Amino acid sequence: MSNLSGTIFRDMVATDSADPVSVAEYEKTGGFEALKKAVKMTGEDIIAEVKKAKLIGRRGEAHSFGNRLEHILNIPETPKYIACNASEDEPGTFTDRFLLGRLPLKLVEGIAIAGFALKAKASYVYVRGEYRKLQKQLIKAIENARNAGFLGKNILGTGFDFDIHVNSGAGAYVCGEDTAVLNSIEGKVGRPRIKQPPHLEGGGGFLKPALINNVESFVQIPTIIGMGGDEFLKTGHPDSGGTKLVCLSGHVRNRGLFEVPLGGLTLREIIYDDELGGGIAGGKDMKFFHLGGQSGPIGGSDLLDTVYSYTDLKKAGLSVGSGAVVVMDETVSVIDYVKCVVEFFANESCGKCVPCREGTRHILDILDRLSILGAAGSDDLETLRRLIRTMTVAAFCGLGTMAVSALNSAWRHFKAEFEANVQVGEKT
Ligand code: SF4
Repeated sequence: MSNLSGTIFRDMVATDSADPVSVAEYEKTGGFEALKKAVKMTGEDIIAEVKKAKLIGRRGEAHSFGNRLEHILNIPETPKYIACNASEDEPGTFTDRFLLGRLPLKLVEGIAIAGFALKAKASYVYVRGEYRKLQKQLIKAIENARNAGFLGKNILGTGFDFDIHVNSGAGAYVCGEDTAVLNSIEGKVGRPRIKQPPHLEGGGGFLKPALINNVESFVQIPTIIGMGGDEFLKTGHPDSGGTKLVCLSGHVRNRGLFEVPLGGLTLREIIYDDELGGGIAGGKDMKFFHLGGQSGPIGGSDLLDTVYSYTDLKKAGLSVGSGAVVVMDETVSVIDYVKCVVEFFANESCGKCVPCREGTRHILDILDRLSILGAAGSDDLETLRRLIRTMTVAAFCGLGTMAVSALNSAWRHFKAEFEANVQVGEKT
């Protein structure tokens, strides 16, 4: 199920039955007009439009895409590279799968515009290993764009050379992290590495300046250049223009991908509106929701009236993250749920640093005891709190620091549930 009639992705409806890798079909919907416009602009002018649009990169960290572009442009060192992360290796998030399947040429166009703005040498799209069919389709789309003069040598007669290559991931969630994905693209083991100046924000591809972002972010670039940054900003929140693809799953009646205007709807509307989530299946009550992917926070029904925007969610201790909205009904144990989340991180930990490698295992042991009435003692709760604090400050990369985000927020909202199991245990 999907509802993609929002402002930015409306052209998907027009391409519903079209061949997604056909340049001719894509051009019928205005495809490559933005690139034609962009090559007549300077890099600074292109970036100025992205900054006016207030595009927030559609990744977990939610940084300004325009600022990132500007930072890389201002590093004098060359050549420059672009990496587009399409590894999407977590449950509950499926925007890349949709965009790679339906709009591969829009992704190509967005990356080409960013490449032109930075006068970059090449781009690498790192696609989740399991998306084999989509990898082949993207390679075909790139080839077709190259044959039509939109990639390769002397793009549109401007003298600018730029190409896009596709790399396959091998199923490691940690390759969602900037330096890990660069390591993997460079042919090394996909583990995080230290960011060295002046490449702190990009991590440095081949030790050169590199812009890294994800599929949904690059796909927005042609729209921004096409309509102009000011108009794009009007389609979303005053602090963050555009719409967001939201992946609704769990116990909602309508599961699928939906486009929502940033700042235009509350979480309650997203979950309960008939055109969107449609409410909780089986007439049950909602117990909690988990936002932004596995590393995102959990919230209870008291936060349902929070507006879905980067600013409002952050104020409420929540986050947009990957766009995932997993909804659980009243029958679900929050302890069992966070145990699944921590288990995911324990399996995905690359093992490089102790706080994450050992911390996830210890937390899992405690959650195991907590999930069985009477098996945990009150000292387990104190140990749990200490482990959460240690991992948050001492893990080497974002995977480890964010692995406890769901658990930490679940503790805040459902403390009584954690304590109840311990109290029963201590009485018996
Ligand atoms: S926090 Fe440490 S062990 Fe965990 S994924 Fe990052 S580098 Fe690897």
